[in-house]
Amino acid sequence: MTKRQKQRIEQQLQAKALDLQEELARLRDKLTLEPGGDSADYQRAVADRGSTILAVNRGMELMSRVASALAALESGSYGMCAQCEEPIGEKRLRAVPWATLCVQCRSKIEDGRAA
Ligand SMILES: [Zn+2]
Repeated sequence: MTKRQKQRIEQQLQAKALDLQEELARLRDKLTLEPGGDSADYQRAVADRGSTILAVNRGMELMSRVASALAALESGSYGMCAQCEEPIGEKRLRAVPWATLCVQCRSKIEDGRAA
């Protein structure tokens, strides 16, 4: 990886981390709102709460992936699959700069989850 490529990836990751921070702050604000009003409003607030919590969890998971990608970039292990230790592949990293698994390992895990 050239220094230029590394800088570009670092910028992408930092921009993503910033986005996620803002999004998580916004979602947490939503969670602190107490549901009130009539029954239908209350039901919707409860339903929204579930999806908000899911979004917070997803955001936090992504945040930790972005953080490990930045750490890997520092230590020079960026772009290696955390599972099989093979290079992840430029195409995948360009689409998902915070990817920690190669396509094969990723789909293996997803198959496992589905089974
Ligand atoms: Zn792999």
